[in-house]
Amino acid sequence: MGSTGSIGKQALDVAKLRGIEIFALTANSGVDAIEKQIREHKPRLAALADCKKAAELKIRVADTGTRVLSGEDGVCECAGSGADTVLNSIVGMAGLRPTLAAIDAGSEIALANKEALVAGGELVTGAARRKGVRILPVDSEHSAVFQSLQGCSAAAEIKRIILTASGGPFFGMKKEELSKVTLADALKHPNWSMGAKISVDSATMMNKGLELIEAVRLFDVPPSQVDILIHRQSVVHSLVEYSDNSVIAQLGVPDMRIPIQYALTYPHRYPSPVRQLKLEEWGKLTFESPDYDTFPCINICRAAIEKGGLFPAAVNSANEAANELFRQGKIGFSDIPMIVGEEAERAPNTDAFTLEDILLLDRLIRSRIKNKVVR
Ligand code: NDP
Ligand code: MG
Repeated sequence: MGSTGSIGKQALDVAKLRGIEIFALTANSGVDAIEKQIREHKPRLAALADCKKAAELKIRVADTGTRVLSGEDGVCECAGSGADTVLNSIVGMAGLRPTLAAIDAGSEIALANKEALVAGGELVTGAARRKGVRILPVDSEHSAVFQSLQGCSAAAEIKRIILTASGGPFFGMKKEELSKVTLADALKHPNWSMGAKISVDSATMMNKGLELIEAVRLFDVPPSQVDILIHRQSVVHSLVEYSDNSVIAQLGVPDMRIPIQYALTYPHRYPSPVRQLKLEEWGKLTFESPDYDTFPCINICRAAIEKGGLFPAAVNSANEAANELFRQGKIGFSDIPMIVGEEAERAPNTDAFTLEDILLLDRLIRSRIKNKVVR
């Protein structure tokens, strides 16, 4: 799911190398890209969330054996079609319903789509637990934690999870400088080439805040046991500190094909096209604390997961809306944390919620933010 995006394309490369059969492919509106993928990978099903584009795709690939479905329901039908593994690399909480559909069908989940887990929380983890479905992380930090946890025999042995962060393109800047940065500046990530939304999230450090929540959800640890460490080189992908103060980390050159492949072949490892890590070439690896004052999004997310309930979903929706408005040139970079911080205070305080509650809250927050900006 999300096969035409940055992770989706790399996942198809890995699948091809490993001889993994592709059962279904989905995207939003990228007809050209998905048509090419359909011709190459010959899936049984494909879907575009955009109905008009899906109709166009249907005509274009009528000569193939691929059945084309349309709309969000079509994407969910693909997700729930019972493949062994569903790799979800949809961007944003549009990936939530498909994730639930895949879990419901009993498919193993390889998850890049962190927003679905942040917003859905217990709805997703609870459904997976009940179905006995594994959620394997694709996000590099969480894959690193997962790899560093292999062999851990009891949760009580884990003292801390330490997520590394590159610091993004604006590392070292102060608030005044941040108010002047442009979209082009924000899209220039120092170590990774990624989709536009997550690139902006990396620049605001919201990505690390979302990842903090993602870690709490995936590894079932309290937020106080998840720390963030700035590591500019993105070679140490994350670490686990154990009760005896031994620290185990996973390292590698920054290339998503390692975590993608591990999620698809776990618990086995196979050769990969990714370059070998030669530490002597890197020479120096550096570590420091984040500047929480200049980049407040991490602490906004930490507060949201500490409060629980719908607060993480509210923060995620506010960020999706603000991130999009920034990419459309309608607000400044520094408006993003301000908008997200405001909305973070306003979520209804409840422990019990349904998928409908999350979707309703999402619509409410998006329209509130858009109305405010238009005026
Ligand atoms: P991209 O923007 O490159 O790709 C997004 C994909 O999702 C595209 O295939 C897009 O289709 C599809 N999509 C967008 N909106 C919808 C929708 N409403 N319904 C169905 N499909 C939709 O994003 P990335 O690949 O960079 O990121 C994907 C996810 O992985 C995000 O959650 C991100 O946080 C996470 N991630 C990404 C990393 C990276 O290196 N890129 C690293 C770690 C995590 P279309 O092409 O038609 O628009
Ligand atoms: Mg990451």
